[in-house]
Amino acid sequence: MDKNSKVYIAGHRGLVGSAIVRNLKSKGYEQLILRTSKELDLRNQNAVQQFFEKERPDYVFLAAAKVGGILANATYPAQFLYENLMIQSNVIEAAKQNKVKKLIFLGSTCIYPKLAPQPLKEEYLLTGELEPTNEAYAIAKIAGIKMCNAYNKQYGTEFISVMPTNLYGPYDNFDLETSHVLPALMRKIHKAKVNQDESFVVWGSGSPLREFLHVDDMADACVYLMENCNAEQIDEFVNIGTGKELSIFELAQTLCKVIGFEGKLEFDATKPDGTPRKLTDVTKLHQLGWHHKIELQRGVQDTYKWYLENVANYD
Ligand code: GDP
Repeated sequence: MDKNSKVYIAGHRGLVGSAIVRNLKSKGYEQLILRTSKELDLRNQNAVQQFFEKERPDYVFLAAAKVGGILANATYPAQFLYENLMIQSNVIEAAKQNKVKKLIFLGSTCIYPKLAPQPLKEEYLLTGELEPTNEAYAIAKIAGIKMCNAYNKQYGTEFISVMPTNLYGPYDNFDLETSHVLPALMRKIHKAKVNQDESFVVWGSGSPLREFLHVDDMADACVYLMENCNAEQIDEFVNIGTGKELSIFELAQTLCKVIGFEGKLEFDATKPDGTPRKLTDVTKLHQLGWHHKIELQRGVQDTYKWYLENVANYD
């Protein structure tokens, strides 16, 4: 990838896409192609084809998707399936037709079976039933992985799939109904502190184990793979994570420390726990030569600073 290559980042306003843009800019890539969803509806096949024919990107980061936390996934399964299948099919097919040199498709570790052994190795894909709370999203993402592989096999393309663990960082979604746990708890704890409440509410039992990766690390991994690895080396797909986990309870405690809230946690047992554990095996990623750099404590401090400057003031 030379610095004058035309690079299209689909979903550049999202958590991951915006981090990829920051990373590419910091490395001196100058020809970034960006479109908001208003400017280009990726669910519309004709619009996507016209866009690719006109812009002819050399490289594509496919970070556009309908995403959300445990409640959003369970509430809008039709939209999660339809929108994701359309977006990825349109972009992957247009990338092939317009001879894109390399494409990175972003999925998530929720593609793994609910009760897969831990840590999750890439080979556990499709070895058991999915977690019901995010089945629709997972099915769409599994279709995306298979589509990239099928295109590589049949057309000789270089379409790579990456499966990040739970991500967090600047430009995350802090909406309490649709967000993931880390931004949701950050906002709840911040509000509890400001309002001098005695406690805040944690959904579920607090016992599920999760792994968290700062989105700047995620972007760095994606750009690293785009620059250095090909589809054959990556094989079906590669996990992107830290290989470290903690319980939701411990996460809440870490957030309380960073935010400076000394009140109590209350658990809302009417909300789902989701999958009991979700830890990636990062052996393959390390073998490919990439390792995470931002530990949780520092990542949370950085994200809280961003939240205070960009969200809390307008809340
Ligand atoms: P998941 O990793 O796909 O299950 O998605 P989430 O990040 O939404 O949830 C992870 C875990 O955190 C689940 O066990 C949730 O029940 C729990 N959790 C605790 N409090 C919250 C909250 O305020 N919002 C969300 N989204 N999850 C929460």
